[in-house]
Amino acid sequence: MSSTPPAARKTKKKRPCGPHVELSSNAAARITRCGCGTVHVHFLGNGITMRLPDGDALRHVANALMAASRVVDLGDEPVVTTPGDDTIN
Ligand SMILES: [Zn+2]
Repeated sequence: MSSTPPAARKTKKKRPCGPHVELSSNAAARITRCGCGTVHVHFLGNGITMRLPDGDALRHVANALMAASRVVDLGDEPVVTTPGDDTIN
């Protein structure tokens, strides 16, 4: 289904930690990106900060959250996934 061409793989470049840029925020969460590329998701309700290595990881998490939100809001049938179907690393 999803085969990533080798050329699309990014080589990890070390960038220094810098000021955080706010990507998005609302009453529940604030998402910022550090100068080093790490994405921080701050959950305002419980004070937890989730660190994601990069934007790809954020996209995976965001997709999962949006899918779950649709199920809750619209009463869609939960999607049954096979373990190992989606590669998160
Ligand atoms: Zn950093």
